[in-house]
Amino acid sequence: MTLTPLPAFDDNYLWLLDNGREALVVDPGDAAPVAAALDARGLTLAGILLTHHHGDHVGGVNALRDRLQGPIYAPAREQMPEPVQRVQGGDAVTLLGLRFSVLDVPGHTAGHIAYFAEVPGADPLLFCGDTLFSAGCGRLFEGTPTQMHASLQSLAALPLQTRVCCAHEYTLSNLRFAREVDPANPALTTYAAWCEAERAAGRPTLPARVGTERQINPFLRCAEPALRESARRHAPLKLPAVPSPVDVFATLREWKNGFR
Ligand SMILES: [Zn+2]
Ligand SMILES: [Zn+2]
Repeated sequence: MTLTPLPAFDDNYLWLLDNGREALVVDPGDAAPVAAALDARGLTLAGILLTHHHGDHVGGVNALRDRLQGPIYAPAREQMPEPVQRVQGGDAVTLLGLRFSVLDVPGHTAGHIAYFAEVPGADPLLFCGDTLFSAGCGRLFEGTPTQMHASLQSLAALPLQTRVCCAHEYTLSNLRFAREVDPANPALTTYAAWCEAERAAGRPTLPARVGTERQINPFLRCAEPALRESARRHAPLKLPAVPSPVDVFATLREWKNGFR
């Protein structure tokens, strides 16, 4: 199985997974890079996985239909380019011989879903759309901090070696915020140096790993004393003496919205 991030727009990755003959693509916001990759490698498009309704994730779906030889799976509770097969948390779908578990991860949008699969002979795969980014997380356009925190915790509970296929290359800008709010974290310093080298060499920082994200992503670390203290220093009047992880999450998310 080959996993390829196809760059699109300014900072999107359209994830292509193939077995040398057939491929699936996740969130094809633009059809052109997908069609070019399929043609260049002589691959059949065997299926499409969609995580949420934003245009940069579904905009290329209709243009790929004429070459598609399989299903389009999409979240049950979001507006989608019809027809699609609707799925939700607890469902499982099979593509390329892999069984993908569907996870409900509301927060960025109200009906956002993610897909997780064990891969024989390789590390597991997570396609999480705009929920979890390396060193960051999606903005709360439709959901509450409580929902998003729970969604992120469910992703953080996946196997540590899971390859996290995020939909945007936001890592370096996320790391600037992460180092601001978690300055004494040595894992963050090491990871930032690696990511800077990757980007300088023109390579993606993704896929990320669940194990690494648990060490460096402030939005997965809201129960840690260091993050709690940062949140309290930032919003001393808003937060109780011992803020809950959701309080910390909400404070960090709002703080990052205005962080440059
Ligand atoms: Zn989005
Ligand atoms: Zn997006």
